[in-house]
Amino acid sequence: MATATLIDGKNFAARLRTSIAAHVARLKTDYGMTPGLAVVLAGEDPASQIYVRNKGLQAREAGMNSFECRLPATVTQAELLNKIAELNRDPAINGILVQLPLPRQIDSQTVIQSIAVGKDVDGFHPLNAGLLAVGGTAMVPCTPLGCLMLIKDQVGDLAGQRVVVLGRSNIVGKPMAALLLREHCTVTIAHSRTRDLADECRRADILIAAVGKAHMVKGDWIKPGATVIDVGINRIPTPDGKGRLVGDVDFAAASEVAGAITPVPGGVGPMTIACLLLNTLTAACRQHGVPAPEVKPVPA
Ligand code: NDP
Repeated sequence: MATATLIDGKNFAARLRTSIAAHVARLKTDYGMTPGLAVVLAGEDPASQIYVRNKGLQAREAGMNSFECRLPATVTQAELLNKIAELNRDPAINGILVQLPLPRQIDSQTVIQSIAVGKDVDGFHPLNAGLLAVGGTAMVPCTPLGCLMLIKDQVGDLAGQRVVVLGRSNIVGKPMAALLLREHCTVTIAHSRTRDLADECRRADILIAAVGKAHMVKGDWIKPGATVIDVGINRIPTPDGKGRLVGDVDFAAASEVAGAITPVPGGVGPMTIACLLLNTLTAACRQHGVPAPEVKPVPA
């Protein structure tokens, strides 16, 4: 029988977006400014098209200006870099997001590094990654930022908590660990070469799985009462051929052991887009020399 509290990321994200929309409206009346988000999509990847559409939709719902830049799959690196240079110069654009993955002929790192640091609302630019690591004012990657909000809402003060971050990617694992260090957690980063992975996980008061392997984390990997954040999004086959989204954690088994757990879908995913809007709001304030508001979700 499931005993864990369900961490409802969908509801939290909706309340956060409501709060962001109120701040956006206030910026309009107080300073006459409207944050603008540009999303660049190269190629026709169906999943990317859905993500881009959702990002634009939610930006507009929050009262922001949304710009979609669609480029063909055959776009050259020079053409893409020109587009980004144009967006960097445009004062109506406060945030730029380049949807990954990019077509094969494009070097993603070069593209990420061409985005103006202050407009890098994904927080993937090496300068933002470095600022996060040394404790400066960085643009924080959206998914780890969203996870941190959910964790703090659930756990409260994080000082001294033992955390295991499963996965060491630049977009989730590493920035997640940096954020948790900033909160005074004791952080272990585990990855494909980690020995005794289950044992490492069992020591965690807070376990964050960002691996990309369906149901890899078993129920008996979890410390009783731990908080479990499942970042993974994996499609598994179903008899009707449509497939189903599941996380990196065996949710049914983990729910019997954990103190609190995020579902997939409806956990971390919605927080990622909400935090993209939050970063766009922050970027717009910084670019206009206006104090960035401390945005909290409206009460449940
Ligand atoms: P990456 O593929 O970049 O990184 C995966 C990490 O998991 C790597 O560090 C890898 O280790 C580690 N890993 C892989 N296999 C194992 C294993 N068997 N044992 C231990 N560690 C392992 O993935 P991302 O970080 O980009 O994404 C992770 C997951 O999160 C994916 O499912 C992705 O779809 C999802 N995601 C969800 C988002 C959301 O909004 N909810 C946003 C972003 C990602 P090593 O470094 O040694 O190879």
